[in-house]
Amino acid sequence: MGTGYVGLTTAVGFASKGHHVTSLDIDQKKVESLRAGKCPIYEPGLSELMNQVMREGKFRAESDPACLSESDLIFICVGTPSKEDGSIDLTQLRRASEDIARNLGGKYPIIAVKSTVIPGTTESVVIPTVERVSGRKAGRGFGVCVNPEFLREGKALEDFFHPDRVVIGQLTSREGDLLEGLYRDFGCPILRTNLRTAEMIKYASNAFLAARISLINEIGNLCKLLGIDTREVARGMGLDKRIGPHFLSSGIGFGGSCFPKDVKALIARGREMGYEMKILRAVLEVNESQPLRLLPLLEKHLGRLEGKRIGVLGLAFKPDTDDVREAPSLKIVSHLLKMGAKVRVYDPKAMENFKKCFPNIEYCMSAEEVLDSDAVLILTEWQEFEKLDYSGKIVVDGRGVEAARKTAKVYEGVCW
Ligand code: NAD
Repeated sequence: MGTGYVGLTTAVGFASKGHHVTSLDIDQKKVESLRAGKCPIYEPGLSELMNQVMREGKFRAESDPACLSESDLIFICVGTPSKEDGSIDLTQLRRASEDIARNLGGKYPIIAVKSTVIPGTTESVVIPTVERVSGRKAGRGFGVCVNPEFLREGKALEDFFHPDRVVIGQLTSREGDLLEGLYRDFGCPILRTNLRTAEMIKYASNAFLAARISLINEIGNLCKLLGIDTREVARGMGLDKRIGPHFLSSGIGFGGSCFPKDVKALIARGREMGYEMKILRAVLEVNESQPLRLLPLLEKHLGRLEGKRIGVLGLAFKPDTDDVREAPSLKIVSHLLKMGAKVRVYDPKAMENFKKCFPNIEYCMSAEEVLDSDAVLILTEWQEFEKLDYSGKIVVDGRGVEAARKTAKVYEGVCW
């Protein structure tokens, strides 16, 4: 259920392993696009594999929840966005649970929650909703698992086929065994827990990774003041086995559909329980101001930005995705416009999504076209930006693109 980044990857991935998969979405446009063989999101390799499994008759897309009655196993992969106050919005999850309940088939269908949900949600929302509407009892008339998803956008298929671990939270061992069987040939550790522990493992993992980014950015902000290149510092830190090299890239902060909303949701849940998550609040605080640190650097080299043509390379929250949800580019472009700058942007995949938020800025046909500006900001480290010649340009870099550092006339990094 749900054919976003997680649902579609899961569907196509399991279909390619030989299972018969039906995807269900309430967004009719997405379903039509899938049926026409068009992938509604950009994810490397996904479109090709999706068309292959469709041709093989292993995968089909539906919009009528009645198709659920044929399923032995139902993965819930619907969105769990933030509400205004940061807490988790469970509207899609509630509706999905009701749709499942009305269409439960078979003797013991299993519901696996892949959506990221706050610890306790499967027990307090999914199970009671399905029991109430279907009249069946969890653990007797249907099974329930929590199977959190850890894929990275831009590497979704790679992560589906080669996960570091699979976490299975189970209501009873019957459904836990079935799900474990499904993942047996994935060649990774499989951890079996109860439902709420599995839910928490997902949040704790994202909170930890987000904290690493904010920590290195905080170190980076001080490095910048002290004339130290944070990237060298991070290399030196990452060689320590206790630390490791990942998630130590200082820059303009994390974005995307997961880290910001998941950290907010965890803080909100803590608050509901009377516990203030102090570190996580600081993680968000550092992250919120990080993108805007580029602007004074730009002014240092250009003076007032009013009327200046500012080129922006990269809009997606990270390379190899078209996703701009919570991307630092949103905040930066909005401030540039407020300061009176003329904004000219390019991204290999994310321009269509960005246009929905900023329809009236200049969208360039190529990265080279963006270079023809008074100054250039680099906001996403797409590989193709490493191939550009930045000679004669003023570049303020939020991501650490080596080619810009080597060739630009004036080069400044956010933390280096
Ligand atoms: P998304 O917003 O891209 O997709 C969600 C889809 O669910 C939409 O297409 C929507 O139309 C559909 N939907 C909503 N209600 C439905 C219903 N009742 N029946 C059928 N379809 C329905 O979301 P996403 O990025 O794929 O994330 C899904 C979940 O997985 C979220 O909880 C997210 O936190 C989690 N997650 C996301 C990622 C990621 O990288 N995107 C990684 C790990 C976990």
